[in-house]
Amino acid sequence: MRELPTIQSVAKASPTKLHKLWEGLGYYTRVRNMQKAAKQIVGRHGGKFPQNFDDVLALPGIGRYTAGAICSIAFNQPTPILDGNVIRVLTRVFGIDENPRDKETNARLWKLAEDLVGRALRCPPRRGAETALHLESSCSHMNQSLMELGAIVCTPRSPNCTSCPVKKYCVAFRQNRQDELPNLGKREAATARRFVAFVINRNGRFLVRQRPNGVVNAHLWEFPNVEIGMKGRARRSVRAALKLQMNGAQRTGAPYQSKDFSIVSTRPLCVIKHSITRYRITLEAWRAEPKQLPFKVSGLWRTPAQLHKLAFTAAHKRILNRLPAQ
Ligand code: SF4
Repeated sequence: MRELPTIQSVAKASPTKLHKLWEGLGYYTRVRNMQKAAKQIVGRHGGKFPQNFDDVLALPGIGRYTAGAICSIAFNQPTPILDGNVIRVLTRVFGIDENPRDKETNARLWKLAEDLVGRALRCPPRRGAETALHLESSCSHMNQSLMELGAIVCTPRSPNCTSCPVKKYCVAFRQNRQDELPNLGKREAATARRFVAFVINRNGRFLVRQRPNGVVNAHLWEFPNVEIGMKGRARRSVRAALKLQMNGAQRTGAPYQSKDFSIVSTRPLCVIKHSITRYRITLEAWRAEPKQLPFKVSGLWRTPAQLHKLAFTAAHKRILNRLPAQ
């Protein structure tokens, strides 16, 4: 907000600045869509955020849920919202057994959410409550209440039913079926994946590459890396991984052979564990160095201080933070 305080400033910002500001937040497509939306607002709506639901929904990166949340919370319109928290509350309160991911059940939940927020607008204010405030905020309050109830009280594993404000209406509470609802079917098993990254030092500068367009974390920077598999034929040694990464076999690879580089220690610099969707990822960072100088290789050679000005993926930022600052 401090760096880009207006829609116009978001529309005009350079991609490098946007990615750096968003660094560490994940879901980088969102920031690119945010800029596309800002450009659309400047181009089609005179720089003013639209209030009409269809116009909001037409903005890049904004789906039905976000459009509903914006129109209800910001403009008090009776537009429904349905996220994971609201799905949990509605399936439990109304005792809905079917999987909320099924098309028909999902449509039924949207309809219920729509009825609730519509009813909030039509309800007279509570005795003692201010009428003007009620008219200004009833839809906003209804949708925020549903989300907060799901986030704070009606939690996935141990809902706090005894202090729940809607317990007297709740089918799951009455039938003691909180554990069964929502019925989300079987979860996909988590998959373990192993990557190695190479921290290649040449006279105090380190080699980094920018992820290409169209892949996860596009445009962000990282150390050269490759997946080496957990077992079987896909499992490779760190040296074989270096060869694979540096001989051009990889998408971002350079036309140099691994014999041009060597691993400089017997232990990794660090091992980072993180999760992306259903993948449990282990990333080992190994120090390496070029055997001969000078080297031309795809990517940039930068000092740690210069690297800190680039936007890195969260896992590779943790590797960067292990390097001595210069
Ligand atoms: S009574 Fe329990 S299960 Fe029902 S909505 Fe409240 S917290 Fe959720």
